[in-house]
Amino acid sequence: MLAQAVAFEETYRKNVDEIYIFYDYSNRRRIIEKTEEDIGRLKEIIDDMRKMISKGECSDFNYTNRCEGCSEREICLPEFKIIIEEE
Ligand code: SF4
Repeated sequence: MLAQAVAFEETYRKNVDEIYIFYDYSNRRRIIEKTEEDIGRLKEIIDDMRKMISKGECSDFNYTNRCEGCSEREICLPEFKIIIEEE
């Protein structure tokens, strides 16, 4: 969410003061803090991701209950990893 907010700010040159994540299944929302420290950490993560992509590496993750409602599920394909591990 922080990355989306920063991308929005840079694309449209408008400030995003408040960021919320909304959980459709529970109809609840949670505020995401946006601090300079978090933005610095985000830039470090993006640099690390670029390095991994350039080397053809894939990050490690575990399938959890969160995956059920995650918007990245179709990209991440956590079920696919479970199938690979079972083989
Ligand atoms: S689908 Fe992928 S990105 Fe989403 S919660 Fe699961 S492991 Fe994380």
